[in-house]
Amino acid sequence: MADRDPVEGIPTEYWHRLEDGRIQCDLCPRFCRLHEGQRGLCFVRGRRDDRIVLTTYGRSSGFCVDPIEKKPLNHFLPGTPVLSFGTAGCNLACKFCQNWDMSKSREMDTLADQADPEVVAYMAERVGARSIAFTYNDPIIFHEYAIDIARACRERGIRSVAVSSGYVTPEPRAEFYAHMEAVNIDLKAFTERFYKKLTGSELGPVLDTIRYIHHETDTWMELTTLLIPGENDSPEEIERMAAWVREELGPEVPMHFTAFHPDYKMRDYPATSPEALARARAIALESGIHYAYTGNVHDKSGQSTYCHHCGELLIGREWYRLSEWKLDGEGRCTACGTSCAGVFEERPGAWGARRLPVRPGAFARELEAAG
Ligand code: SF4
Repeated sequence: MADRDPVEGIPTEYWHRLEDGRIQCDLCPRFCRLHEGQRGLCFVRGRRDDRIVLTTYGRSSGFCVDPIEKKPLNHFLPGTPVLSFGTAGCNLACKFCQNWDMSKSREMDTLADQADPEVVAYMAERVGARSIAFTYNDPIIFHEYAIDIARACRERGIRSVAVSSGYVTPEPRAEFYAHMEAVNIDLKAFTERFYKKLTGSELGPVLDTIRYIHHETDTWMELTTLLIPGENDSPEEIERMAAWVREELGPEVPMHFTAFHPDYKMRDYPATSPEALARARAIALESGIHYAYTGNVHDKSGQSTYCHHCGELLIGREWYRLSEWKLDGEGRCTACGTSCAGVFEERPGAWGARRLPVRPGAFARELEAAG
């Protein structure tokens, strides 16, 4: 599994030595067991000088200011801009990866932008972002870098958002989520068969993480399932998934069902139909979930937020663009006064659907000049 390759990087904490001389990385349930010079499956953590190091600290695969709805997060500061970035590598091996150019890259870390945590936080402030999103690839594998950025951002009043598969072990998970104000977890399917066959991982640890975030942290959470025709889109599977969410977490965790486009190693599959997305959303709502959404298609009614009590349209939304807004300053329906779950302010942001790529170099120079 692991390549023999000399690696450089910063020391990390979650690992231990095995009796046979190998070192086991304990950050995620893959538990890679490494000889000197080998890298783990994620490719960005490896063994050097008899310890596990992270090789991508301080380097990014790119930055972009996006609408927060693109994560997707529909109940966390709607309409506001988020500075999105990622690094390289991933600890899953999804055959349908929609970001495979970054997550599977073995060269990205040498091509990437240099960006110290203070520069990232300064850049987020200067571009007017309300939050920073660790996205494009799973932030768990750059745990130390993501946490240092989250700390620097908090000092500037910028919130931190993760987009993650939830495939992480308990101790680093607790440290990580202590720094995250919101997260979208990819609940990729509801069968171990799917997880094993198409992601090379397991469903059980992901469900543990979802329970942990909901019950043990203050982090706002939404869930996303990319529906792949014939693999995870049967009504029975969606019904079981929604029932689990309803029973284990309650009705207020939003569920997103997004459209798959043929990509990476699954180019021979069809794209998800709008009907399949609408059906999954209807099943979740019928199961008692208060907020369910479609994504990656044009569908205003499937992407808008409604009051679960009186049915009022609270937030009109289509492709990340907001229209109606009928929440008061406390996040309550202006028609009936029922609270809408989430993190809201009196007014929505006005970022719209824009996507603005940014480079850290000029911001680093500005910050240095400011002393
Ligand atoms: S974080 Fe990377 S090196 Fe560590 S166990 Fe997971 S895949 Fe292996």
